Amino acid sequence: MNRRSFLSTAMGASLFTKLSAAQKGKVKITDVKCMIVRGTWDWNLIKIETDAGISGIGEAYWGPGVKDIVLRLLKQHIIGEDPLNVDKLYHKMLMLTAGAGAQSGVTVTAASGIEIALWDLAGRILETPSCNLLGGRFRDKVRFYRTTQAPAKVEDMGAWRALVQEAKAERFGWTAFKFQGDGIPPRADPEYKEPGHDRYTRGLTIQDLRRIGKAMETVRQELGPDIDFGVEAHWKYDVRDAIKMAQAIEGSNPMWLEDPVPPGNADAMARVTHSVNVPICTGENLYTRNEFRRLIDLQGCDIVHLDIPKSGGLLESKRIHDLAENSFIATAAHNPASPIGTMASCHAAASMRDFRVHELAKYIDWWQDLVILDGPIIQNGYLTIRDKPGLGLEINPDVAKKNLAPGETWWG
Ligand SMILES: [Mg+2]
Repeated sequence: MNRRSFLSTAMGASLFTKLSAAQKGKVKITDVKCMIVRGTWDWNLIKIETDAGISGIGEAYWGPGVKDIVLRLLKQHIIGEDPLNVDKLYHKMLMLTAGAGAQSGVTVTAASGIEIALWDLAGRILETPSCNLLGGRFRDKVRFYRTTQAPAKVEDMGAWRALVQEAKAERFGWTAFKFQGDGIPPRADPEYKEPGHDRYTRGLTIQDLRRIGKAMETVRQELGPDIDFGVEAHWKYDVRDAIKMAQAIEGSNPMWLEDPVPPGNADAMARVTHSVNVPICTGENLYTRNEFRRLIDLQGCDIVHLDIPKSGGLLESKRIHDLAENSFIATAAHNPASPIGTMASCHAAASMRDFRVHELAKYIDWWQDLVILDGPIIQNGYLTIRDKPGLGLEINPDVAKKNLAPGETWWG
C-alpha cells in the first residue's frame, strides 16, 4: 500500500471526502437536518447527509415555519435521491408540496435552503466550487453594500453625519451603503402627531419630502461624490407620493430608491419607474421567475433585488437574472443571511452577467465567526469566491452551539 492509499484508507472519507468517478454517481441522500441559530435574525441552517459520508450545508431565509416545512414536508421527497440532480429535486419538492397554484412564500423559501445545501453537496462530490456548476463565474469578487439604520429624527443632520462616518469606518471597507428605518418618513413621527400623518395611509407630507431631501443631501456631502448609496422605502407609499419622494432625493444621485410601492402590483411599480430619474430597485418579496415575469416585461424596475435563499435558491435566481438581463435590467441581492446564505448567494451572483451589488444588512460582531474560513469573508467591500469544493466553508460548531435559538440543539 503506497502512502496515498494508506492515508485515504486511514483517514476515511469523512476528512478527505474524495470519491472515485464510480462513487460520485452513486451517492444517495440519507437525511436532511435543520437548526436555527439566533444571529441578527433566526437563521434557518440546513444540512443534507449522504451514504458517502459527505454532507452539504445551506440556509433558508430567516423566519418561523421554515424548519417545519423543511423537515415535515420537503425532506421525505429527497431521501434516497441522487444529490447531483439538483434542479430535478428542487422541482420535485415544489410539485409534491405546493402544487402549481401555491409556489410562493415559506414553501419556496424552505426549498431554496435545501437547494443551496444541494449545490454545496454537489460541489463537494465533484470537487469544484458551486458556482462552476451554475455555468461558471463572471467575476471572482462580489461587491457589497452595507445597510444602516437611519437616525430616529430625520431632521437631525448631525446624527446623519455621524451615522455615515461610523459606517465608513467599519472594518469591511464598504464602497456602497443603504439607509433605511426610522429616519425615513413618516416613521420619523412614530406617534403620527404631525398634520397629514396617519398610521395606515401611504402618504408623504410636504414637510416629509423636504426633510428626506435634506437628509440625503447631507449623506451625499458626507460620502463625497463617488460613493454609492441606496434609499429604502419598505413599500410604504402610494404611486404619486413615491414619485414625489424620488424627485426629492434625485439631486443627491442615489444608486436607487428601493421598494417605493407595495410588491405584487407590477403596473404600479412600473408607473413609478417610468416617471422618475432615480433608479428603482425591487424584488425581495417576490418568489420564483413567475412573480418577476410581468415586472420585467413592463420594464417595471431598473434593478431586480433578489433574496436568493428565499425566492428560489441559486439556479432559480440565475434564471430570474437571465430574464431581467434579457431586458437590460440589472440584478442586485437583498441579504439578511448568516455567512452561509451570504456565501451561497455570492456563488449565484458570481455566475450572473449583470450582477451589480450585494447587501449585508444588520451586522453583529460574531457574524463571520459562525463559519470557518481562510481569512476575512469581506475585504475592501468585496467578498471573494473561494476555490474550494462547494461553498468553501464549514460551520464553526462552538459558535453555532453558543448562539442556538431557544429550544434548538446542534443539528437536532
Ligand atoms: Mg429592502
